[in-house]
Amino acid sequence: MKPGWLDLTEPQRLEWLKAAGYPSFRAGQIMRWIVEGRADSFERMTDLPKALRDRLAAEFDVFSLKMAECRDSSDGTRKLVLDDGQGGRLECVLMPDDKRVSVCISSQIGCGMGCVFCASTLGGLKRNLTTSEIIQQVLTLRNLLPPERTVSHIVVMGMGESLANLDNLIPALDWICSSAGLGISQRRVTISTVGLPDKIRKLASMDRQYPLAISLHAARPELRDKLIPVNQRVGLDAVMQAADDYFETTGRQITYEYILLGGVNDRDEDAVALARLLAGRKAHVNLIPYNSVGELEWKAPATADVLAFRDRLQDMGTSVTIRKRRGRDIDAACGQLRRELDRRTSNMVH
Ligand code: SF4
Repeated sequence: MKPGWLDLTEPQRLEWLKAAGYPSFRAGQIMRWIVEGRADSFERMTDLPKALRDRLAAEFDVFSLKMAECRDSSDGTRKLVLDDGQGGRLECVLMPDDKRVSVCISSQIGCGMGCVFCASTLGGLKRNLTTSEIIQQVLTLRNLLPPERTVSHIVVMGMGESLANLDNLIPALDWICSSAGLGISQRRVTISTVGLPDKIRKLASMDRQYPLAISLHAARPELRDKLIPVNQRVGLDAVMQAADDYFETTGRQITYEYILLGGVNDRDEDAVALARLLAGRKAHVNLIPYNSVGELEWKAPATADVLAFRDRLQDMGTSVTIRKRRGRDIDAACGQLRRELDRRTSNMVH
């Protein structure tokens, strides 16, 4: 397997070019082909000398992550499983609609948080993704679009706990949002977390504009302990305190993600507990009706219960929306497609 050109740092690219006898401006030319020209091979970089293209192609691929699976939903959602060539697979999703093109990307291979309803954590955490691998997901998804369209919004809500990989994630997002990258506004890139208080404060101190989403999923501590095992160690109070500190430091409203599990956290008393927890806080709740995972016991909520939950929150003064379900026909919930692919192949990740 060849290394990816995108996996090299800028100094490493310059060093390689120098050793190969080429001027440094070729590095910028290559990146322009990748970023603006959407090139995924060196052969397409037609204003590079043929000898350089051949040499690059002999030693590198442009992308080190390869598409292992692409599923198209009837609603336009496209879900990819990308393979790192070393037994690691991750998922990312393209969600175009009339006005915007959103992508959902992963920050880790597997996940160590253990949320009981999530397929991504079934085999535990394998590793953090590199800065390049986070960038590659966005470019790979962008390259599936017609030339006149590009990515407008990013959510880091795929596989993994985003804030556990802040050191690689922030440089990747910063590059994507820069003029050298895709020039996306930082305000359109949402970082999601189950709630790691120290990391929330660290992100707040970094002086970026990325919106934060906290995956709450339960407003009563004992239920959250069951659904999100890391909560037993951290505690709901500490998560909310960190969220308040984040708001105080950045002035930005936090979104609370709430997966509705049928018969588990979708009852009236759960809605009341959630509204009370968020009362007095500048917050928005995003309700996500659960998408059943074959291996797991949890059930999708009844539509009537979803609507009643929303209405109860609204009646109690909580800002709330129900997330549109996308890609249901292609196993678009976190981690499902990768699990299926792993089962189908002998190259098992876990
Ligand atoms: S929901 Fe997110 S944090 Fe929880 S196990 Fe799944 S990927 Fe990890």
